[in-house]
Amino acid sequence: MKIICAFAGAAQGRSPQFSSEAYRLGQMIGARGHKIIYGGGRTGLMGAFADGAVSAGADVTGIIPKFLDNHEVGHKGIGKLIITNTMHERKSYMYKDATDFVVLPGGLGSLDETIEVLTWCQLKLLNAKIHIFDLDGYWQPLHEILSHIIEQGFMHGTNLDYVFWAKTADELIDRL
Ligand code: AMP
Repeated sequence: MKIICAFAGAAQGRSPQFSSEAYRLGQMIGARGHKIIYGGGRTGLMGAFADGAVSAGADVTGIIPKFLDNHEVGHKGIGKLIITNTMHERKSYMYKDATDFVVLPGGLGSLDETIEVLTWCQLKLLNAKIHIFDLDGYWQPLHEILSHIIEQGFMHGTNLDYVFWAKTADELIDRL
């Protein structure tokens, strides 16, 4: 059993495929018996992913700061919703026990979390695999900037040894 921390957009994105694939990925991870931790939202890809995982009987924990839960975005249909005081407290709860991170399409919040865990892995504060769900090439610009940083000598290429890019949910699951 792995502890999967997922990052995903609070919005749905333009393509309806994003939500349906987020739901399917949640279902597939849940069906394998992995424990899931995520940002606790009920909207967008976050909500679709959590709903898929719950439908497969997964143990899903959401971690949400009080100010977001007050806006009623917290998902009430998951196993456990932990309310934190601050964003920083939330992030350390989300990251601390994760064996794997899964990054679905998303916006600034997902990008921020992804860059942060990449940095923490580089600093050896975390020892985990990072799986990027590059659905329809959504995260190619991230791939480009990371390659650019390596090419220009600001990061060692070995920092991407634990980063896996998957075009499909099946490909992602195979590497977990
Ligand atoms: P974004 O990708 O900008 O939509 O932000 C989503 C990511 O940031 C998620 O992985 C969450 O951990 C966090 N986050 C941002 N907005 C929310 C929200 N409304 N509810 C819960 N978590 C959120």
